[in-house]
Amino acid sequence: KEARLAEVRQFLPEWLEYSRKEAFSGEVASYIPELSKAPRDALGIHLLDLNGDHASAGDCGMAFTLQSISKVFTLILALMDNGEDAVFERVGMEPTGDNFNSMLKLELVRPGIPFNPLINAGAITVSSMIRGATAEEKSLRILEFFRRLSGGSPLEINEAVYRSELQTGNLNRSIAYFLVENGVLGGDVEEVLSVYFRHCSIEASCRDLARMALVLAGDGTDPLSGEYLIPRRYVQIAKTFMITCGMYNASGEFAIKAGLPAKSGVSGGILTFVPGALGIGVVGPALNAKGNSSAGVHLLERLSQRMDWSLF
Ligand code: GLU
Repeated sequence: KEARLAEVRQFLPEWLEYSRKEAFSGEVASYIPELSKAPRDALGIHLLDLNGDHASAGDCGMAFTLQSISKVFTLILALMDNGEDAVFERVGMEPTGDNFNSMLKLELVRPGIPFNPLINAGAITVSSMIRGATAEEKSLRILEFFRRLSGGSPLEINEAVYRSELQTGNLNRSIAYFLVENGVLGGDVEEVLSVYFRHCSIEASCRDLARMALVLAGDGTDPLSGEYLIPRRYVQIAKTFMITCGMYNASGEFAIKAGLPAKSGVSGGILTFVPGALGIGVVGPALNAKGNSSAGVHLLERLSQRMDWSLF
């Protein structure tokens, strides 16, 4: 697959404006009150190829919190800290077909084991496996890892969003206590949740997303600095989860229509990439019924089809 950004640049601004209209069929997430302040019809995209050449359009400078997108990279860090066997003793590898914050299947599989690391139950478990003596140390390690992946961008936690999540996160709190009851989670629940809420609240731009995705596109080696950041095997694992569960319950549809590994979050961000070719970051805060950015998905599907980027 080739990036062919010169070609993309010719139609991107027009296509973006066309996709922007899709936002009106979606809603900005409000269950974390602080997120509801995001502009509904914003839409931005940044594409970055292996040579550092980029194309961008729309509101690509807008800052937003990573939310569930962070789960891909905390999974990778937990794998680097603990190894594959230890991580998959505590989380499964299958999509659920349920909502991201559902507790339904926690009672069904191997008692209490979350189905996969991208739903909340799995991601909270993964957060607890990040190395560090305290919650602060774990959070700092995550932040530093994310900064390294983004090429040294000074990423920070959005404290207002973090507090908003802490105050309203009772469902996540219930999930965490349920996991303790089942022996999946150990330690102090509030500390584990603070690590989880903090990494969801890391603020970034589409450029940062594209830069992080580029490292995945390079199989774990940063194509721009040549630095080896992630073992190839862990990129392979993350990439597979992104295809099977990265776009919530629309992962199958996105795999058919765009055919790219992707992860979205409730703030309307989508991180995706074309392996061996380019990293892509998108933001569009209005979400469709499946919880993905309405306009963002529309733009990515058209773009991938036009450029023949599908992996399949
Ligand atoms: N922090 C959010 C939550 O746990 C992340 C959800 C998401 O982006 O899917 O509710």
